Amino acid sequence: MLTQRLRHTSSLPGILACVLVAAMSGAPSAQAPAANAPLPTIVVLATGGTIAGAAASDVQAGYTSGQVGVEQLLAAVPQAKKLATLRGEQVANIGSQDMNDEVWLKLARRINELTAQPDVAGVVITHGTDTIEETAYFLNLVVKSRKPVVLTAAMRPSTALSADGPLNFYNAVAVAAHKDAAGRGVLVVANDWIHGAASLTKTSTTAVQTFLSPLSGLVGTVAYGTVEFYRSPAAKHTTDSEFSLDGVTQLPRVDIVMAYENMDGALIDAAVAAGAKGIVIAGVGNGNLTDPAVKTLAKVARAGIVCVRSSRVTTGVIGRNVELDDDKLGFVAAMEHNPQKARVILRLALLKPRSNADLQRLFAEY
Ligand code: ASP
Repeated sequence: MLTQRLRHTSSLPGILACVLVAAMSGAPSAQAPAANAPLPTIVVLATGGTIAGAAASDVQAGYTSGQVGVEQLLAAVPQAKKLATLRGEQVANIGSQDMNDEVWLKLARRINELTAQPDVAGVVITHGTDTIEETAYFLNLVVKSRKPVVLTAAMRPSTALSADGPLNFYNAVAVAAHKDAAGRGVLVVANDWIHGAASLTKTSTTAVQTFLSPLSGLVGTVAYGTVEFYRSPAAKHTTDSEFSLDGVTQLPRVDIVMAYENMDGALIDAAVAAGAKGIVIAGVGNGNLTDPAVKTLAKVARAGIVCVRSSRVTTGVIGRNVELDDDKLGFVAAMEHNPQKARVILRLALLKPRSNADLQRLFAEY
């Protein structure tokens, strides 16, 4: 029981405890496949990011994302070929600050095609760190397979002193090739940690240790290809997801508006004028906003725009009817979803008309 509880926390003492418990129980499963065992086939879909970035020197801060192609990326980590038979495809080569619906739809469809092929054991996606949490969560909702789908990234470009990309890539392949990786939803591997798509968030602009899963903790760890899983994400995903991209060519517009001291309703009205079908508020505290902004948001909700209260705070649940009466005002509470993830699920939810009660259910279940 204690072991279970320790394994559900991502606090530093919790992580240390997990490592100790694992070491004492001899739990980690070494990755080297048995001699003569056929290697699983993993397809690597490259989208760009700093992992494929390059700078003019190995110690300069300035660089350009998405410079290195997938074949170069594979060639840079020959060790990964001992874990799996790798095939590369270039889906895009962009900084993930430029991630867009066209790439999302292409990526999701390609993953669904690949994972339906019996010879493909899993997929690794290389991506920028800026929006990896959004892409991972989107895929978590629309990929229709239990096979491992693992995203990875890097904070330092491929040319940097102590680049983190090669080991992150190696570890991502190890996770995708692992016999116990299936059925845990879309995963993100960075800096030795395995995160669930719904829980991770980027927390540092520059540090290699940027990703945390602050509320529900890690799915597992991976050190030099040795994988240990602690848990499976509790939220629904992939084959349990009711979302589908069948026939979808466009996703509805949803904007995020941040709350702040002395906020008025101007940016909420501006989002509606720009064509938003939904608005996510990155509220203060437990999804709060000033009284004038609440009044504008309630007016917009009455006009049929879906209004979701999330928070600009890094961690915590935004519950219904805490300081604001969501029932009366017609709002939806984002629960565990930060604004960027709330926006992702709301865009998929708005592909068909739904009541506020149904929308609230989605935020609780996914
Ligand atoms: N701007 C880069 C990107 O998201 C940052 C990175 O990958 O670390 O593509």
